[in-house]
Amino acid sequence: MKYQDPAVKVTNPDEALKLLKDGNARFVANNLVPTDYPEALAKTAKQQSPFASILTCADSRCSPEIYFDQGTGNVFVVRNAGNFADREAIASFQFAAAVLGAQITVVVGHTECGAVYHAHNDTAGGGTLPAELTGVLNDLRPIVKDASDWNKDGLEVNVKAQVEALKKTLPEGHPVYGAIYDVGTGAVTWL
Ligand SMILES: [Zn+2]
Repeated sequence: MKYQDPAVKVTNPDEALKLLKDGNARFVANNLVPTDYPEALAKTAKQQSPFASILTCADSRCSPEIYFDQGTGNVFVVRNAGNFADREAIASFQFAAAVLGAQITVVVGHTECGAVYHAHNDTAGGGTLPAELTGVLNDLRPIVKDASDWNKDGLEVNVKAQVEALKKTLPEGHPVYGAIYDVGTGAVTWL
């Protein structure tokens, strides 16, 4: 049986992008490559070499290791509400690119994103939400408020804004891509 390779060596961005695209195609086809976890843990206990970094939403339907069909050790992931490139996310991706050797960084928004919905429609509880949550929605609102369809171009404009924010802070020439994950079909569409 073929297993995931947690120590796969990827040395260029095109190869990293292809691994994610191929993994999502397997996920959509329900044709996943299993991970031998005892072997994977043994290979990665003392080191990691993720080939890609991913910023995606905290939404419970949006686990990139699952929808890109990756085992442990292959993707370096930051998740938060609205897949927002905040200071901690940026710092994490700088580390992954400069130290761990991640070849690409990808921002993946998703359909039916509650953070984008509430930021776009300004339905954030009428001031009853905790300050931190209100702050996140206030950060997202200027980005998505003019979208005609929050569940289409609202998602895309947010992803593109986060891509631009990351490009400014990551090493020169490090590719940053944007994509949308469809929580209904499982497919990732690249922007
Ligand atoms: Zn979301």
